Amino acid sequence: MRFIIKDEILIPSNTLDDSLPISQIPAIPQPPIQPNYLYNRELQQLLTGKQLLLDDIPFPLNEIQSHYENGYITYRKGINQSGKKPICARCGNKNLQWFETYPCSCCGETCLYCRKCLMMGRISGCTPLIGWNGPVPDTILPAKISQWKGTLSKGQMEASNRVVDAIRENRELLVWAVCGAGKTEVLFAGIEAALAAKKRICIATPRTDVVLELTPRLKAAFPEITVASLYGGSEDRHLFAPLTIATTHQLLRFYHAFDTVILDEVDAFPFTVEESLQHAALQARKPSSAMIYLTATPNEKWQRECRTGKRPFTTIPARFHRHPLPVPEFVWCGNWQKQLQKDKLPANLLSWIKERILANKQALVFFPHIPLMEKSLPILRLIAPTIEAVHAEDPERKEKVQKVRAEEIPLLLTTTILERGVTFPNIDVAVIGAEDSIFTESALVQIAGRAGRSKDHPDGVVTFFHYGKTDEMLKARRQIMAMNREGIKRGLLD
Ligand SMILES: [Zn+2]
Ligand SMILES: [Zn+2]
Repeated sequence: MRFIIKDEILIPSNTLDDSLPISQIPAIPQPPIQPNYLYNRELQQLLTGKQLLLDDIPFPLNEIQSHYENGYITYRKGINQSGKKPICARCGNKNLQWFETYPCSCCGETCLYCRKCLMMGRISGCTPLIGWNGPVPDTILPAKISQWKGTLSKGQMEASNRVVDAIRENRELLVWAVCGAGKTEVLFAGIEAALAAKKRICIATPRTDVVLELTPRLKAAFPEITVASLYGGSEDRHLFAPLTIATTHQLLRFYHAFDTVILDEVDAFPFTVEESLQHAALQARKPSSAMIYLTATPNEKWQRECRTGKRPFTTIPARFHRHPLPVPEFVWCGNWQKQLQKDKLPANLLSWIKERILANKQALVFFPHIPLMEKSLPILRLIAPTIEAVHAEDPERKEKVQKVRAEEIPLLLTTTILERGVTFPNIDVAVIGAEDSIFTESALVQIAGRAGRSKDHPDGVVTFFHYGKTDEMLKARRQIMAMNREGIKRGLLD
């Protein structure tokens, strides 16, 4: 789109000679709010805390423009310049390789656009990002906000109090909770405190699965609060809600929206590798806001910051059932890949699997790569023909996980796709080739965290079969043991 500036107001114009694409206008004027203007409440609901493209807004341009002229809507440049370099205002991309030009019909010029966030709609040099500048919608609170009836363990309670404080005081806090500690429940008191103070709160997670799992739990805990559940293709896109659950991707549409952002699984792909998602999370918060990070496996940098007092954090070192985390045992299995080339697997791995099959104990066996797993499957099916294998692109992934739950599959071979998120009540876990670089400290801690989850079966065996111990294996085991020690010290284990 092209604009001209007239009387300190930006006016869309594609005909006038002196019009410019928005990114070429030095400073965007913001008209003052006209208190008597009758603004559109639907636009208010749609735009509060957002940064949307014209295409995202189901209202005509003249209505949007009129709101802008009366101070209720803001226009921001889709692409900013830092010196000569472009920066995408939405995703923060400043890598030239992720920019492209095209003959643009909106501004009639060769226009620069960001490829990085293209899946959320094209941002180009002539794209205004549209936001809300008027009053925020009023939320009416029910007499009783939380209907959650559960109880917290001592460890959860301590973390919960810290979360409440951080939310009240707009601070940052890392909650480092072991796998199976029950971290969602730890948030409820903080969410309640935020809602009671009419704060807008967002729980963001890298994975759609988690959004789908959390939504009904939060709706049950806060039945009278509007909850927006946002992921690619979700129907709540235009819903204004005090409580939002979203994938980190969806945060790209928000701008200074939330008083509290809770970021779940900060260590998980794709959040760790995608700088744009980190940018999105930071941009979605209000300048003064609380940020709660949740993880079972903070990366090395964060662990160091915790140790040296540079990062405020709290730990939940023990599971709800008060049993220690299973500590992985390391078993050397020689050059297993070479054996596999001759259609053989190490004898100690085979006997580990046979024992489980005979004892009717279910197990997950992790492989570093799909071809190695697929080559092993027929060998292991000689022990039990019902053994299955699963990986990320497997169309039957969900069914197979379901069959493990129904105890129809005794042993499931898997890649790291099942390292987190899935809970089976009573399983043992093995890793074959734990020396592989894909098995980082955090992956191994997550994998070990699959065992001993339920209170009926709090113990599980975790075995790392390896051809040479790695630092990552040692760090993973150390982390698990440190958590168990802390659990004892704080009286959280029996
Ligand atoms: Zn972008
Ligand atoms: Zn253009």
